Amino acid sequence: MNYQELKSEEQKYVMNTYGRFPIALDHGAGATVWDVEGKKYIDLASGIGVNCLGYDHPQLIEAIGQQAHKLMHVSNLFTTEPMVQAAKKLVEKTHLNGKVFFANSGAEANEGAIKLARKYSFDKYGEGRYKIITLVNSFHGRTVTTLKATGQDRFHNYFFPFTEGFDYAQANDIESVRRKADDMTCAVMMELVQGEGGVLPLDPAFVKQVEALCREKDLLLIIDEVQTGIGRTGSLFCFQQYDIRPDVVTMAKGLGGGVPVGAVLAAESCAKVLTPGTHATTFGGTPMICAAVNVVLDTVGDSRFLQEVRRKGEYLKNGILALGSPHIHGVRGMGLMLGIIVDEGKHTAFANRLIEKGVLAITAGKNAVRLLPPLVISDQEMDEAITIMKEVF
Ligand SMILES: *Cc1c(COP(=O)(O)O)cnc(C)c1O
Repeated sequence: MNYQELKSEEQKYVMNTYGRFPIALDHGAGATVWDVEGKKYIDLASGIGVNCLGYDHPQLIEAIGQQAHKLMHVSNLFTTEPMVQAAKKLVEKTHLNGKVFFANSGAEANEGAIKLARKYSFDKYGEGRYKIITLVNSFHGRTVTTLKATGQDRFHNYFFPFTEGFDYAQANDIESVRRKADDMTCAVMMELVQGEGGVLPLDPAFVKQVEALCREKDLLLIIDEVQTGIGRTGSLFCFQQYDIRPDVVTMAKGLGGGVPVGAVLAAESCAKVLTPGTHATTFGGTPMICAAVNVVLDTVGDSRFLQEVRRKGEYLKNGILALGSPHIHGVRGMGLMLGIIVDEGKHTAFANRLIEKGVLAITAGKNAVRLLPPLVISDQEMDEAITIMKEVF
């Protein structure tokens, strides 16, 4: 089917929940994808930061295929090797002496973290200490609870009543966090680079101050690494560049290299809080999915691979800045999580124009064209993208 045919069937059969770009994608290789009409695009979005190993990655596909053949799924009432291995890798690579719970998405990972924080506090202090402080402009997911955890008013609509117990502090303002931290508070949850909010890295001094406040008041420090994790910012997890020890790290997007998976990593401080009967999910830790996670962690967890991510991030950023376009007011972010800052409200028009010309990019906040390319993107693909950007900007 061509795009027009697909679109008309989509409108007939698929719920209208997304404003989609006007192309239908068909296949990919590396960081390049082709649409159903055969037009080529350099992908600077990876889904939304999902396809960290790009498209048609041989080991990833091999591992999924082999595991599908062997044992695709069993319930969590049984032990499987891929799941145990994936958890071990996450624990060993994060040095938090933690334990892992596998979920299926970012929102679900955050739900798990929220439950964990509330139970940690309940076990220790009893009822009433349930409040979680998040940051203004954050994004934590689309469930009724994680929408409320998201510090943006526009998400707090229609679906009343939302889950109670969230309060929003200003990013990079420790006094604002301190004012919100009362005797009902059990945790602080934040992204280190606000993704959906506009690719806004938090100030390292602020993050250290939040960590200190959490220690002072026995609040769990939950870092939402759903977008920043899995090599995206140039370290396996972004917290490793902020020199902090979170209590809980949530992840999803890049974790499976394209298959749906999320995870909650709880550090030693709270690794034993969730117990049989308190949390579960049917698909969590499915062997076929964990086979993919293992390849992703082996590949992205390698220090040379991460060094390349940092180099490519600089290369792409410098290439964009060197365009000298009057429409580009800066490039912010870390590693291969970048936001090109344009005039407020113009980001969507630029993203559309880029797609028209053969570069997939998305938007964030009010003024950022967001780039989350596959971490395996080649210099040649980046050069091609920059040539197209020159034309567009
Ligand atoms: C995407 C995202 C989520 C939600 O993940 P889903 O898999 O869509 O549920 C949560 N937090 C952050 C920081 C994200 O970027």
